[in-house]
Amino acid sequence: MPSPEFTATAIQNLIEEVHDRLRGRREGKVADYIPELAKADPEDFGIVVATADGHIYAVGDSDKEFTIQSISKPFAYGLALKLLGREHMHTKVGVEPSGEAFNAISLDPVSGIPRNPMINAGAIATAAQIWQHNPEAAEATLLGFLSDLAGRPLHVDENVYSSERDTGHRNRAISHLLRNFDVIESDPEGGLDLYFRQCAIAVSCRDLAIMAASLACQGRNPISGAEPLNADITIQMLALMGSCGMYDYAGQWLHDVGMPAKSGVGGGVLAVVPGRLGVAVYSPRLDPFGNSVRGIEVCEELSKRHGLHLYNQNPRAINTIRRSYTGSHRRSRRWRDATEVGILEKLGSRIRVVHAQGVLDFAATEQLLAELTAIAGQASVVVVDFNQVLELPPTSCSILLGQVALLRAKPITVLLSRADHLPSLAGLDHGLPTLPTIDAALEEAETILLQKERPELPSLQAPQPTILDGLDPDYRAILNPLLELTGFRAGEPAVQRNQSGDTLYIVVDGIFTTRIRLNLSNGTKKATRLSTFSSGMCFGEIGFLTGQPRTADVIADTDGHCLLLRREALDNLGRSRPEVVIALLRALSSELGSKLASASYQLTLLEHY
Ligand code: GLU
Repeated sequence: MPSPEFTATAIQNLIEEVHDRLRGRREGKVADYIPELAKADPEDFGIVVATADGHIYAVGDSDKEFTIQSISKPFAYGLALKLLGREHMHTKVGVEPSGEAFNAISLDPVSGIPRNPMINAGAIATAAQIWQHNPEAAEATLLGFLSDLAGRPLHVDENVYSSERDTGHRNRAISHLLRNFDVIESDPEGGLDLYFRQCAIAVSCRDLAIMAASLACQGRNPISGAEPLNADITIQMLALMGSCGMYDYAGQWLHDVGMPAKSGVGGGVLAVVPGRLGVAVYSPRLDPFGNSVRGIEVCEELSKRHGLHLYNQNPRAINTIRRSYTGSHRRSRRWRDATEVGILEKLGSRIRVVHAQGVLDFAATEQLLAELTAIAGQASVVVVDFNQVLELPPTSCSILLGQVALLRAKPITVLLSRADHLPSLAGLDHGLPTLPTIDAALEEAETILLQKERPELPSLQAPQPTILDGLDPDYRAILNPLLELTGFRAGEPAVQRNQSGDTLYIVVDGIFTTRIRLNLSNGTKKATRLSTFSSGMCFGEIGFLTGQPRTADVIADTDGHCLLLRREALDNLGRSRPEVVIALLRALSSELGSKLASASYQLTLLEHY
């Protein structure tokens, strides 16, 4: 048992070590152009990493509040995109890096609109749009949105707000300039006030890390599960953070650190490793660009030492093919008669089973398609299993279905298995049979192969010889009166768990399946099929021979008939004609032997495929 108080992890040690090493850095100056900001303790230093799996690693002043300042800008822009749409916002604010200081009074010389939403002009224009959209609800909407991303209710620091409101003459000038160019179409004070309030929202380093992780997860808060943003808007926000997030240091930052990021004059920095994690640092001493000195150092260090740069992607780190094998390597649990077994032994390799895994993005889907192409030459039926596929984006789904169409034209039959958890597939009318278990898919593939390869076989369910047919006709005649022909309706149990096992069943026609309940490691129970029998096969022989109670249910899958032989009848016969009983037992043990041989062969193969 792991000790419950064991919380040490090497990741935690790593950020503690970075924190320890950089706490001595005292370069930079706390911002004081907003008087209230000058009150920050220059020694404050917190680092938090929040992962896409919802793990949090925190060190130092990770819960101390400070004001979000410019880090609010990409989020306010995301909200504006959500409320007003991309097209409208592009008429108000551009998406080009300006290479100028955050508070530059710069507008595009041709269009007159601010270059991007990360400089004050663009952020004030953005806030004005949110405000104009619904002046009464604007602040509550913005606060609610940021709170959802942080996973806790946030509030405005009234002291910092009034301090900036009373001294922010430059921002006031910018907003009036925007009014002059009609970027803001009404009284600029409303939007400006919203901007001041948005900058004064109090956050902790932990909040920022979770907000960054939410961006890493395409707008879904990985801790609360809330989804205040969609992937499309998140991509636009990250792109802007990548090109303009670090003021006029943005180019160098993208070059050296390579994480979409945003800093604020309150001393916060957040950075995103898309798909993976968010990092936040709080340390109020700023460099001449207005970026937290230690904040930059921490991100640079993590990026360089741990390969988090956006453009540092391992080639082919994914392995989409979990397993790939043929129908001779793995059989369904449906017992087949000798003819069918013969065909499957010879032609089983025409069944190909491919288990895919992971997130099927473009590159991963390409790997799956390459595998499907490589096996197509020898395949007659292909099963694609999705059980371990975590996500199949709609774009990949349509590429995959395109490949399936090519396979079907060959013609290869394509079956899907365990795909119900993938909305992109489950929601489509693709017409492909989708089986709930890999065993059911294998059985279906075998049946299709048998039909394809032996169309002259009248029916796979036609009566087949039984163990009785191998007996001497005289013995058979003696046994006949002891056999009770019994009919079962589809769904009816022939054998029930815990019943006494005193009867042998010989299938005349119909299909019968043994089901057991497995205790899974997570404490739940799961019903699964052990084996399926059809005409000519027997079941119940273990209880019949050992006298032990039944360990599983056997259910009729279809209407069918069995010949029942009771042990009592056989015991009685043993007293007068022991040789008949011996012959039957011999036939039974040879049948059991071949079942055992086949089961252990399959088990051994499973280890290898
Ligand atoms: N409220 C601040 C301003 O507009 C935000 C600046 C920043 O964090 O870069 O001056």
